[in-house]
Amino acid sequence: AKALGRGTFAEFEPWLEERDRERAQLEADLKTAIQNDEFTLHYQPLYDIAQRRTLGFETLVRWQSPIWGVVMPGEFISLAEDSGLIVSLGEWIIRNAIEEAASWEEKETVAINLSPLQMRSPRLIPTLAEAICTTGIDPARIELEITENMLMHDSERNVAMLHELRDMGMRISLDDFGTGYSSLNYLRSFPFDKIKIDKCFVEDIEDREDCQAIVRAVMHLAGALGMSTVAEGVERKSQLEWLRAEGITQIQGYLISYPVNAEELSDGRPFNEDR
Ligand code: C2E
Ligand code: CA
Ligand code: CA
Ligand code: CA
Repeated sequence: AKALGRGTFAEFEPWLEERDRERAQLEADLKTAIQNDEFTLHYQPLYDIAQRRTLGFETLVRWQSPIWGVVMPGEFISLAEDSGLIVSLGEWIIRNAIEEAASWEEKETVAINLSPLQMRSPRLIPTLAEAICTTGIDPARIELEITENMLMHDSERNVAMLHELRDMGMRISLDDFGTGYSSLNYLRSFPFDKIKIDKCFVEDIEDREDCQAIVRAVMHLAGALGMSTVAEGVERKSQLEWLRAEGITQIQGYLISYPVNAEELSDGRPFNEDR
């Protein structure tokens, strides 16, 4: 089948061509979305269940397309990666997130997700440095979230890059922990500040003993390595209670708040577990 041309293949699987066409259209529209100012940033609180207070916010991008409506990052980030557009989109996100965070009176932290291609861009460091310089923000308030898979390719170069970012005063978090490859090896190769336990382990934490064992183990491992732990995807009070009893202090999830836009952020505080 691999010898067949694209058109021949599509004859047998017309849905594939249809999907390809939609993907191509989405990608074309994505290209003009930055100039047209169609992206918005949402922020989800990072909440300390021991101190019962908001420590920071994670930046989550949304695409408000006049054609497609609100497109979630799960649907366009990989497209933006494939087309290389993620580099300029990523720069837009960095500038806007840091500018927004610089205006927060409580000086909470701001977490920014970095994609693999961004990590390889020579423009990443200058973009961050410029945003830090123009806003005057304390770089210690900036947390950069990367995934394990990012360290897989070109890992020496990436580890060097992480050290450079850290030397600039920013913090590095390992996102979606437990869903990628060779997790333990990466924990050894780079001193992360924080490990974010993926929501799939938190989903049924109250009654799944396997997930409980994993969350406990990650928390102890992180602690022993001098890293803090965040549990993601906390939706119910019963999940929070289990985590609190186990000694997990930081959580994120719909229980505390859905991601909100900057306007809602400024009049929606404080966030807490008893809404
Ligand atoms: P992520 O970094 O793991 O972000 C957390 C995702 O979980 C967000 O989805 C958030 O809305 C969702 N979430 C938060 N609390 C809960 C909960 O209690 N239950 C459930 N079921 N979900 C919860 P979102 O905003 O759709 O983002 C999806 C992914 O897209 C992110 O996963 C991240 O990998 C990527 N992404 C989002 N924003 C950016 C960005 O600015 N840059 C890059 N490179 N990637 C981004
Ligand atoms: Ca993240
Ligand atoms: Ca995550
Ligand atoms: Ca609340």
